[in-house]
Amino acid sequence: MLSKSMEALGRRRSVIREIFEYGNRRRAEIGADQVFDFSLGNPSVPPPSDVTEALLALLSDREPTALHGYTSAQGAPAVRGAIAEYIEKTFHFPARADLIYMTVGAAAALTISLRALLADGADEEVIVLTPFFPEYRVFIEAAGGKCITAACREPDFQIDFASLDAAITEKTKAIIINSPNNPTGAVLKRETLERLAERLRRAEAEYGHPIYLISDEPYRELVYGDVEVPYLPKLYDDTLVSYSFSKSLSLPGERIGYIFVSPHAADADSVYAAILGAGRALGFVCAPSLFQHLLPACLGKTSDIAVYRKNRDLLLSALTECGFTCVPPDGAFYLFMKSPEPDAAHFAEVARRHELLLVPSDDFGCPGYVRISYCVATETIERSLPAFRALAKEYGL
Ligand code: PLP
Repeated sequence: MLSKSMEALGRRRSVIREIFEYGNRRRAEIGADQVFDFSLGNPSVPPPSDVTEALLALLSDREPTALHGYTSAQGAPAVRGAIAEYIEKTFHFPARADLIYMTVGAAAALTISLRALLADGADEEVIVLTPFFPEYRVFIEAAGGKCITAACREPDFQIDFASLDAAITEKTKAIIINSPNNPTGAVLKRETLERLAERLRRAEAEYGHPIYLISDEPYRELVYGDVEVPYLPKLYDDTLVSYSFSKSLSLPGERIGYIFVSPHAADADSVYAAILGAGRALGFVCAPSLFQHLLPACLGKTSDIAVYRKNRDLLLSALTECGFTCVPPDGAFYLFMKSPEPDAAHFAEVARRHELLLVPSDDFGCPGYVRISYCVATETIERSLPAFRALAKEYGL
């Protein structure tokens, strides 16, 4: 007998992955340049030159056994120290190396944090804001929690506080927020976050236990124009930051990120001990050594995000001109477009006939939209526009 829940998860792939696999088959059939694949958030811009230079320097200067050997389970002390220093310098917030845990990307940062926070067998609840990254539900349930949704309001996708009020209960243990957001590209404003912090503090006082805020930040640096992304630990004490270099440095396949527990969090040292324990129990120890050692030279650097900005502007204006309604994104590299029919999955199927691969929003917990990942070559977007125009025409827009 196998684990039924794990078997079911393995058999039902994520919709995003399904579409991406379809794209691979379709590319083999009709040629890569005939398929307009907007399914996956795989950065199209190469890593900054700092990454290559730092890698070459490490490979030529460091003693190989040290470079490729195990680090401490929680990550190399010098690397965690450099990250703590970077947090202090950039956000003017006190950070300590011994509250940082290196992970294989944000996915592991979230999984470890949830496993650490959720009390064994207590059926605790974790709130996510719709629309949300679908893996949150998987991670929460795998950690023994219950995934509770609260809504963001349309059309600006800031938090709907009436919906949040209804979601908070005595069993609420944590809330995950993600700004800049996948799939909307929305950035939560300072006033929204201050109100959220205030609401959570009230709930903590009412229920007499901490409610942890997990700030999932793989897109922190990917914002366009003068848009503020407030640093959550400065607004709310009980915060854990889940950070990843997958998108900022275009390194998603290398699997590197970290958890930072705010020193102001309730029982911060015990939370960190639970993170060490969860990392150990899940086998997420000693994140990739080479990519840990690369980080001190690359903190604060990003890939050339001007390309994403150009893509966003091009796509947003072309699709709006076609008659589609889009949420203007301030960050990340996703455009959230309203489906012209209520059934977004059917709309995505119709789009597929035009070789446009779009992700219906149902799995993000917010039906009626499609997500368009614009981390592709600008030329792909330019060549896809006649297909979008034909699609709009088919819907009489
Ligand atoms: N969180 C969000 C919102 C994401 O969009 C992603 C990946 O796309 C992740 C977490 C996982 O990131 P990583 O590649 O660092 O595991």
